[in-house]
Amino acid sequence: MSQRDHLVRCITTDGTVTAMAVDSTMTIQTMQQLHDMSAVASAALGRLMTGALLMGSVLKSSKASVTLRVNGRGPLGSLIAVADNQGNVRGYAEHPQVELPLNARGKLDVGAAVGKNGVLNVVRDFGSGQPYTGQIELVSGEIAEDLTEYYARSQQTPTVCALGVLTEKDGHDVVLAGGLLIQLLPMATEDAIEKLEKTLATLEPVTTMMAKGMTAEEMCRRALEGFEVELLDESPVHYGCNCSKERVAAAIGSLVPREIRQMIEEQGGAEAVCPYCTRKYTFTAEELEVLAVEREKTFGKKKKKI
Ligand SMILES: [Zn+2]
Repeated sequence: MSQRDHLVRCITTDGTVTAMAVDSTMTIQTMQQLHDMSAVASAALGRLMTGALLMGSVLKSSKASVTLRVNGRGPLGSLIAVADNQGNVRGYAEHPQVELPLNARGKLDVGAAVGKNGVLNVVRDFGSGQPYTGQIELVSGEIAEDLTEYYARSQQTPTVCALGVLTEKDGHDVVLAGGLLIQLLPMATEDAIEKLEKTLATLEPVTTMMAKGMTAEEMCRRALEGFEVELLDESPVHYGCNCSKERVAAAIGSLVPREIRQMIEEQGGAEAVCPYCTRKYTFTAEELEVLAVEREKTFGKKKKKI
């Protein structure tokens, strides 16, 4: 079943518009189960992670990644999603079990859970050189609108972003998740823009289209109705974390030696949990001692420099 999740990229043959769509259902189900999330938390982080997948897919290098951070001072706290261009995405929310009443339209109140008094921060790391960082004030905390605003403010390409996570009625299970990203290219004519605007005005929500059985490619073709469309590529996506004992050790090894020794004395070792995938890493007193000694060497060097 995990073969189901995939991302497709399409372009109109006249080269004026691109559309990307993703079915991230299994990925977001994994997210919900890993973090035991409430429905509204799943909708919020699920949208952010789906948006990250779409943004990550356009990065060129296999080492590149995009990190989306949202904090709107709502009850969910901070939300983080990281995606690469290989279809891996991971994320977590600070308070994943927050429950809120449905909004006036009977929908999960993502805007209230995220809050809108804060920022969306976007870091695009190209795998080499300086990462590119951008930040906007949140528009609504509904995520898709905020990402659309991010594109309007910080990128030259006019972009429309639609994201959806459907959860079980009266439950926490994720039923469907997906997203759509449509971008106007510099060659777009007035006619093309008008045609696209008309179609987008009548476009149904992503999860409504998915509930009808539409595939990611069909959603792209629907968004680009009236244009001749070429499918560029199709690739799988999944929940993927790149943590390892070495990375956790590096994080512990960046503490001052006194703090590492304190762990040895007080706990006889250390246990660290990856916030993205909840994998546990244990370090024995001996392993910590090695890290403390290593750290002392670099610590000493830095001191000498000063
Ligand atoms: Zn992990």
